Amino acid sequence: MKLLLFDIDGTLLKPMQSGRDHIEYVLGELCGQTISTEDVAFSGRTDPQILRDTLRLAGFGPEEIEELLPVALTHYTAHATYIPEEVESSDGVVELLEYLKPNKDVQLALLTGNVRVTAYRKLAAVQLDDLFPFGAFGCDDADRNKLPAIAAKRALEYCGRTFTGENIVIIGDSVHDITCGREIGALSVAVATGFTSYQHLKSANPHVLLQDLTSIHEFCTQARIEQNTC
Ligand SMILES: [Mg+2]
Repeated sequence: MKLLLFDIDGTLLKPMQSGRDHIEYVLGELCGQTISTEDVAFSGRTDPQILRDTLRLAGFGPEEIEELLPVALTHYTAHATYIPEEVESSDGVVELLEYLKPNKDVQLALLTGNVRVTAYRKLAAVQLDDLFPFGAFGCDDADRNKLPAIAAKRALEYCGRTFTGENIVIIGDSVHDITCGREIGALSVAVATGFTSYQHLKSANPHVLLQDLTSIHEFCTQARIEQNTC
């Protein structure tokens, strides 16, 4: 059985501008100054990392950031709501998930830099939230490399199975999605549906590299998922 850990932004969902807008608004209100995320990298990074970098680039020192960060995270979580019109699933994702859901060879879950509340809020806007009973999130650890082990621990709690090595499949659109599972020997499936180009993803040596998730057969074959166990 495989544990499939899906990233959200740029993978399950098309990339959105509103994440930047929410962070600029919340930090602007909190700090009483104009905040820009223009020079902050978002792709594949956790919300606490993004908030920390934004504050640092706005001129705040380490101690001020430590003080502001928990409050900023709380305000951001409360403020970051999404209307269905601005959230769109990536091409092929709905069909792929519908196919995978009854497949007894897979357990669906999340691995995302979003904090838990925001992750499920985004997925709820496109009615995909119910498909993912658990996951590992940016609120579990700011370091994405720690999230695969957390997801595996939750999988053990949820389904009573120990997932290791290539039975853990991490699907994501950024270099960080590819590298975060290396420590536990997970299989990485990179998809060029986010802001990172196919060539750039290729240079990070994922086990599997796909243009998108529109071919169920290609995904299952490459991710080594049994296709006759529905
Ligand atoms: Mg992503």
